[in-house]
Amino acid sequence: MKKIDCHVHFVGGGTAQSGTWFKLKTWWDRLQARMMLKGCGIEPSAMHDDLDRIYTEQLLKLIKDSSLDALVLLAQDIAHADDGTPLPDKSKFYVPNDVVLELGRRHEEIIPAISIHPGRADAMDELERCIESGARVLKLLPNVINIDCNDKKYAPFWTRMAEGKVIFLSHTGGEMTLPVMNKAYADPRILTLPLECGVTCIAAHSAGGSYPGDKDYTDDLLKMFKEFPNLYGDNSALCSLNRNKTIGKILDPEVQERILHGSDYPVPVSGLGVWIKGFLPWKDWRKWKGCQNILEQDYQFKKAMGFNEATFTRLSQLLDLN
Ligand SMILES: [Zn+2]
Repeated sequence: MKKIDCHVHFVGGGTAQSGTWFKLKTWWDRLQARMMLKGCGIEPSAMHDDLDRIYTEQLLKLIKDSSLDALVLLAQDIAHADDGTPLPDKSKFYVPNDVVLELGRRHEEIIPAISIHPGRADAMDELERCIESGARVLKLLPNVINIDCNDKKYAPFWTRMAEGKVIFLSHTGGEMTLPVMNKAYADPRILTLPLECGVTCIAAHSAGGSYPGDKDYTDDLLKMFKEFPNLYGDNSALCSLNRNKTIGKILDPEVQERILHGSDYPVPVSGLGVWIKGFLPWKDWRKWKGCQNILEQDYQFKKAMGFNEATFTRLSQLLDLN
């Protein structure tokens, strides 16, 4: 079975008419972007160059040089108002579905994850088109792009996803890198209606808090695991300094049966917090802290912390890949 990183972002600057864009409004945005690119082994000057191509080439190099077999590459829809009006001014970056679908066609290491705000006027048509193009995963950030997933008007969208065997990877818990539109949608109970419609859901970051004082929903997620057999969590970004407290709650062997491996690339990986908290043995931290391939580094840290083999291959099983 394939070892898969279930949570890898695409970022592009719209070169070669790809349609991608990002906005860096403040000094903090610019600093974060530079740090993230550097951490991925990309010169920050790439932001003013053909970023789409440079980012793709680097990602392919990293996955090929890693212990992993494939990664889920995420499209990113923009925010919409409750009435379906697009809100590009409230959005920080955009990655069209065709960008990841095309990369998925060209490279066997890439599993595309589409992104469609279910309130969009063309949501059902776009979902249909993407399913026909082979999409098996859909990614959304309900708190960032404003989606009340439990709104009954979205039931046909979730039902079609369930019929098309499209897995829903949803951001849960707080968010620090992107502006949040509706804080309440960080709650994993936002996934209740999609789960009831039969969609297999993965709660990204296992619903943990994102910064000190941020509300932590991991215990709520663990309760939901008992109620919904089609609900999972991922361990993406949990090696970062701000999210590592979630690790202790999901290492339990019984909980691990519902956990999938994910990195949240290009979010920086740091073993420091998990080592200080006692989850990562000293020798493993020493061995991997200087690793330049952050996909591999995240994989090695997770393995050393005790995430079992099945957490790396679980998506393969859920997608029926071999
Ligand atoms: Zn992410």
